[in-house]
Amino acid sequence: MNTNDFDYIVVGAGLAGASLANILAAHDKKVLIIEKRNHIAGNAYDVIDPNGILIHQYGPHIFHTNEKEVFEYLSSFVPFVKYEHKVLGNIDGKLVPIPFNFKSLEIMLPDKADLIKQKLLSKYEKDARVSIFDLIHDEDEVIKEFGQYVFEKVFAYYTAKQWGISIDKVDTSVINRVPVVLGYNDLYFSDIYQYMPKDGFTALVQKMLDNPNIEVRLDTNAAEHIKLAKGKIYYDNESYNGTLIHTGKIDELFGYPFGRLPYRSLNLVFEALDQTTYQPNSVVNYLTSEKFTRITEFKYLTGQVLDGKTTILKEFPLPADENYESYYPIPNELNLHRYEEYRSLASGFPKLHLLGRLAEYRYYNMDIVVKKAIELAKELLNK
Ligand code: FAD
Ligand code: UDP
Repeated sequence: MNTNDFDYIVVGAGLAGASLANILAAHDKKVLIIEKRNHIAGNAYDVIDPNGILIHQYGPHIFHTNEKEVFEYLSSFVPFVKYEHKVLGNIDGKLVPIPFNFKSLEIMLPDKADLIKQKLLSKYEKDARVSIFDLIHDEDEVIKEFGQYVFEKVFAYYTAKQWGISIDKVDTSVINRVPVVLGYNDLYFSDIYQYMPKDGFTALVQKMLDNPNIEVRLDTNAAEHIKLAKGKIYYDNESYNGTLIHTGKIDELFGYPFGRLPYRSLNLVFEALDQTTYQPNSVVNYLTSEKFTRITEFKYLTGQVLDGKTTILKEFPLPADENYESYYPIPNELNLHRYEEYRSLASGFPKLHLLGRLAEYRYYNMDIVVKKAIELAKELLNK
C-alpha cells in the first residue's frame, strides 16, 4: 500500500500507539504503525525468557487505574485477573511494607510506635495516604520527627539512587507518587481497578492491533523515514497528506534544535535462577543499601507456577544515552521549559499530534496513556 493510502501514521507500537490505532481502525480508518524495535507493546513488552519465566523486558509493569473507561476498554480485548501489588522495603536489613504503614512503624520503631500512631490519628483520618512532605512540615514535634525518619529511611537514599541527584533536587510530584499510610493497608496502589492481563501485555497489544485496517512495520525508525518541514510532513521524502501521531521522543522528531530532553534510564540485570523462589514477594525495594533500587521476582507478578526455576531483575539507574533507553522523563523547570519550546515548534504542524510518555515528556502510568489515546482518537474522529 502507498503511504498516502493510510489515513494515519502512528510512530510507536506501545500502549499509546496501539490504543489509538485500535480505535481509529475500528472506525474504518487505515493506520500504518512504524515501530523501531523488533516487537510491539513498547515498554510494557513481556516475553518468556530462556528460563521459561514470563518477564517484563523493560522493568516491572503493574496495571492499576481509577479510570473505569480505561479498564473496560482494555479488558474487552483479553481476560484480566485480579492482582493487588505489594512491595516490601529493606531498611537496614529488616523487611517492612512499602508504602511505609503502621506495621512498618511497629517493626522499625517499636518503642515509639504507639505514641506516633496516636498523634497521627488525632490529626488525620485512619488509613489516610499522606504525603511525606506534609509529615516533615508538621508542627507537632512527634509527627515531624517521624516524618524525618521515614524521609531518611524510605525516600532519601532510594531517590538519590533512582535519580542520581539528592532528594531535595527531585520534583515533589515524583516522590508524592508513594505516600505514607496511616493504617495497616499494605497495598502499593489504592486504585479501584487492580488487575493484570492474564496472558501478559504483549498478548493484550497483539489483540488490539489485530485489525486488517492496521499495518505494523517493525524495525522501522521514524528518524529514517519522517521529515517535518514548513508545516508539512514527509514520509520517505514524499509529502504525506494524512495525520501523524508521534509517540516517540519529541526532541528526536525535530532533530534536537533546542538540545536534548534528558531522561533517566536503567541498567536492567536479569538473573535466571535454578530455585523455585528467591524472595518473599514480587518486589523488594532496597532503601538503605545497594546500588540497585529494587529486585523484582516475576513469578509473583504474573502468577506463573514453575518448580525449580525463577527469574529476578535488579534495576541499576543511570542517565539515558545511546546505549541506555529513555525511561523516565525528569520533571524540572529547565526541562519543562525546553519541552514547551519543542511543543511550540510542533504547533506549526497542524497534522501532527503528540501522545504518550515520551512525546508528552510526562511521568505517565499505562492507564493515563490509554486514557489520553482514547481522548485523542475521539477528537480525531470528530474532526
Ligand atoms: P512506550 O511504551 O515507550 O512506547 C513507545 C514506542 O515508540 C516504543 O515501542 C518505541 O520503541 C517506539 N518509538 C520511539 N521512537 C521511535 C521512532 N523514532 N521510530 C519508531 N518507533 C519509535 N506504568 C504503569 O502503569 N505501571 C507500572 O508498574 C509501570 N512500571 C514502569 C516501569 C518502568 C521501568 C518504566 C520505564 C515504565 C513503567 N510504567 C508503568 C510506565 C509505562 O511503561 C508507560 O506508561 C507506557 O509504556 C507508555 O506507553 P507509550 O506508548 O507512551 O510509550
Ligand atoms: N520512592 C522512594 N522509596 C520507595 C519507593 C519510591 O524513595 O520505596 C520514590 C523514588 O524517588 C521513586 C518515586 O518515589 O522514583 C516514585 O516511585 P514509583 O514506585 O512510583 O516509581 P516507578 O515504579 O515508576 O519506578
